[in-house]
Amino acid sequence: MLSRSLKRSLIPAIIVLVAVFLVLSTRPRLNSFQGQVMGTTYNVSYVATLFSHPVKDVSAVVQDALADVDQRMSTYKPDSELMQFNRAPVGEPFKLSGDIVQLVQQARAISDLSDGAYDITVGPLVNLWGFGPTQWVAVNDSHEDSDSHPLANAPEFVKWIEDQYPGHIPEATAIQEALANVGYQSLKADPEGSTLTREKALFVDLSSIAKGYGVDQAAAALRAQGIEDFMVEVGGEVLVQGVKPNGNPWRLAVIGPEMGKNGVSALVEPLDKALATSGDYLNFFEVDGKRYSHTINPVTGWPEAKRVAEVAVIADTSARADALATMFMVLGDEKGLELANRLGIAARFAYYTDEGFATVTSEAFKPYLVQQP
Ligand code: FAD
Repeated sequence: MLSRSLKRSLIPAIIVLVAVFLVLSTRPRLNSFQGQVMGTTYNVSYVATLFSHPVKDVSAVVQDALADVDQRMSTYKPDSELMQFNRAPVGEPFKLSGDIVQLVQQARAISDLSDGAYDITVGPLVNLWGFGPTQWVAVNDSHEDSDSHPLANAPEFVKWIEDQYPGHIPEATAIQEALANVGYQSLKADPEGSTLTREKALFVDLSSIAKGYGVDQAAAALRAQGIEDFMVEVGGEVLVQGVKPNGNPWRLAVIGPEMGKNGVSALVEPLDKALATSGDYLNFFEVDGKRYSHTINPVTGWPEAKRVAEVAVIADTSARADALATMFMVLGDEKGLELANRLGIAARFAYYTDEGFATVTSEAFKPYLVQQP
């Protein structure tokens, strides 16, 4: 039996232990998890305490939110809502999820902003140049219903396609044929925003905006869990909110083609906003030393060949930042910077020079810059 004096002497120790436990259990800490979606990877970090918001629960709701966007908006999934629409009869309204119609409306507005340089109906050209899901190229040439194509997923078929599209320049006739089915003006939404109509055999590709939308949806899932301080990244598109456990704002690196010190070309603090980058140095092929990247000019039908190598954009939502970054890659640094300053868009352009690279930054981007290496 413990003596009374010993019991009395233990009380301060127990109080200290409880106090330490309370401090530790309420101290903000960083939880992180990763995964794969949309043909790329994602990373999420969020601030929680020892017993709040376990990673197992939080990662499950984020994975669900991302998988939902992937399943509905992918051109890589034959049964996605978007691909069912891309196979819908021309001229007939097709019922779609409200957020897909909204995203298309947002994309149309950015097309208007850029006089058609940005155009989500560029899909046939993306596929023709070999930057899309391989199996769709042949289906659109000869089969109305993709699932009925006998070889759609057969390895030898994919090999045949890769042999056909080893990163070579398509025939001019094929580019003209594909161009005939490009044009966002022929994509109409009904006033209620519940249906879309293809007024010609368009192929909508949301790759330049839906990955960003996925980031926005993951952020919404975190907020719904009561998490207010987080960083979400999907395939390079990032959205941050609140602060890190030490109270400092989230700081992000722009990994430019010029690979500054430690591979970083700029550090930014987007402060409850999204950062998106687009570039031509990750997804391209070369023919006779000339580079052809996955950013396509919807007017010429060719990959854009302007001197811009990468564009970083900061905007309120990741979907908007994602789409604007692709738009600026097509417009180039001169026209792009002029438009960004005229509209107050935060954009940073890295472009090729004879000596290597140079960068220009719009006025609206400058407040976010922390340090230039
Ligand atoms: P961004 O610059 O953000 O986008 C470039 C893309 O936009 C091009 O690849 C092209 O598709 C399109 N584009 C080109 N020119 C224009 C233009 N002028 N206007 C508008 N758009 C244009 N990849 C896989 O390999 N496997 C998958 O399973 C897969 N699933 C995906 C599912 C979804 C829902 C999404 C959105 C993408 C998926 N991707 C998949 C594509 C992959 O994630 C791409 O790398 C990504 O979408 C392109 O993003 P980016 O940041 O590289 O380039």
